[in-house]
Amino acid sequence: MSTQPHSQLSQAVLPLRRNRRDRLALHPADHVDARYADLADRRLAITLSTEDRDEENGLDPMERTTCRTHRRWLHQCVSSPLHVIIVTGHRWCRDCECALTVAVDQLAGDVSLNCPRCHRAPDNRATRQVIRAVRASLAAAADPGFQMSM
Ligand SMILES: [Zn+2]
Ligand SMILES: [Zn+2]
Repeated sequence: MSTQPHSQLSQAVLPLRRNRRDRLALHPADHVDARYADLADRRLAITLSTEDRDEENGLDPMERTTCRTHRRWLHQCVSSPLHVIIVTGHRWCRDCECALTVAVDQLAGDVSLNCPRCHRAPDNRATRQVIRAVRASLAAAADPGFQMSM
């Protein structure tokens, strides 16, 4: 007959040490990269930081709602000549070989592209992608619940 005293009690009260070093712990939802720490628009700074990281992990740069180069929401700088990418056909009319103009309607949350020569927007993947990304940029910049949604 074994009558061991309950000397193991101390083990039961050891604090649970669970260092969950998951991605959320390493990169909290409101993480702002030092590169964007000076931006007044905190939501923009957070989204830039997140999309920079996502891009490193495979996000198509043309799907971004923010611009790493201009440090702005895409709809604020998509009309810059730097956003004309001839090779891929983004903001570019291949028939006329000229840059598409961009009209952003902030109130309606919409965007339209137009070729100044043929007065059309090329019906192709690149054009649809620019429009989709700018619409997402407008929505993200305007959404008051953005930070809560994480
Ligand atoms: Zn830009
Ligand atoms: Zn054209």
